[in-house]
Amino acid sequence: MPKRKFGISVERELAEELDGLAARLGVERSALVERALREMLKEHRHSAEEHDCRALIVLSCQEGKEVSVVAEGLSVTQLHEHREGSCVQVLLVSGSSSKIYSLFSSLAQAEGCEAKYVALH
Ligand SMILES: [Zn+2]
Ligand SMILES: [Zn+2]
Repeated sequence: MPKRKFGISVERELAEELDGLAARLGVERSALVERALREMLKEHRHSAEEHDCRALIVLSCQEGKEVSVVAEGLSVTQLHEHREGSCVQVLLVSGSSSKIYSLFSSLAQAEGCEAKYVALH
């Protein structure tokens, strides 16, 4: 595929980390940036259109900050583990993509918790 060159500016620290990673992996910096862009754009396309979705949400909360997951209108299969002062919940959710995304957003905003989202298609 033909390539197009363009200049971008990023924080120095980020650029140095990118150069370090490119050196460790033995690939061109451009190849890494291209891969990251593809992932980001794919994610954006995925969330842009309402569809029947299946995704994993991984929620990790500090002890005492645990939230209970309420997922109305979605099918949810759940794993739940407590270990070393943290609570981890893995949710396999199916249903409306906008409902899944709003569930993820509310979990990601919970204090003392971190949430990750992985679409499974
Ligand atoms: Zn989806
Ligand atoms: Zn828990």
